[in-house]
Amino acid sequence: MGTIKAVDDLSISIKESQIFGLVGESGCGKSTVGRTILRFWELTSGRIIFKNRDITDVDKKSLKKLKSEMQMIFQDPSASLNPRMRIGTSIERAMKIHTSYNGSDRREKIVALLKKMGLQPEHYNRYPHELSGGQQQRVGIARALAVEPSFIVLDEATSALDVSVQAQILNLLKVLQRDLKLTYLFISHNLSVIDHFCSHIAVMYAGKIVEIADRDTLFKSPKHPYTQSLLSSIPEIGRQKEGSRVVLKGEVPSPENPPAGCRFHPRCFKMSGKCKLEEPQMIEVEKGHLLACHLVDLK
Ligand code: SF4
Repeated sequence: MGTIKAVDDLSISIKESQIFGLVGESGCGKSTVGRTILRFWELTSGRIIFKNRDITDVDKKSLKKLKSEMQMIFQDPSASLNPRMRIGTSIERAMKIHTSYNGSDRREKIVALLKKMGLQPEHYNRYPHELSGGQQQRVGIARALAVEPSFIVLDEATSALDVSVQAQILNLLKVLQRDLKLTYLFISHNLSVIDHFCSHIAVMYAGKIVEIADRDTLFKSPKHPYTQSLLSSIPEIGRQKEGSRVVLKGEVPSPENPPAGCRFHPRCFKMSGKCKLEEPQMIEVEKGHLLACHLVDLK
């Protein structure tokens, strides 16, 4: 049986205390990236470097320690909490595995965390079904923070919430990031959220990164036709000229069976002959602005 690549030839570098956004349509491989970095899944090739250390092939003991330094917050808070476990027990379970706090210290810390999340101490003894979606996500964040990580992958962490609750959770995440000097990989299909939340952004299409830049550069002068089309579809955040709306035709290909050449070529409004034949390589077009598109060569 052959190997199916959900993500291919990917290279991103996230600095300490940065909020790095990864954006793309559903099914483009964003979640695979997050889960692979956290070693939920194995790499077929390549390396993962965390705090100057190669963690690609670490043993089970080291991996357990790493799991406390690197946490994940999921899209659906109700699915990530055990329905039969009280909130306090659920958080404490992670602490028992990954920290050396004793029983009373754990309880004290959990209550303090619940308060920090905007919850009440009495939520300790509640079950997930007794909480709203926003409260459940606050518990999810508390559980991730309980093991004192420095890096958190947020996988569509606010996408399942109502808009007003989403704003509250984003504000909470921003305050926590600032106060605890956390580093986030923020995965989302929602460009408006990425715009407000992230300082650096990578755009992904069909299993590959096609453009990386800081937020202002990406939103003011997107260079990849896919990024341009994504931004133009949301006029309130697109900082491009009026009338530059690009409507993409065709279907998003599966990353497991991408088109030859540039993966975007069947839908690209700037496609040339070379695009069908050769896959463009990632090139730094300006300091910190990386692009994978043959348009660079044409210039
Ligand atoms: Fe479009 Fe060609 Fe650039 Fe791909 S390489 S995005 S097809 S112009």
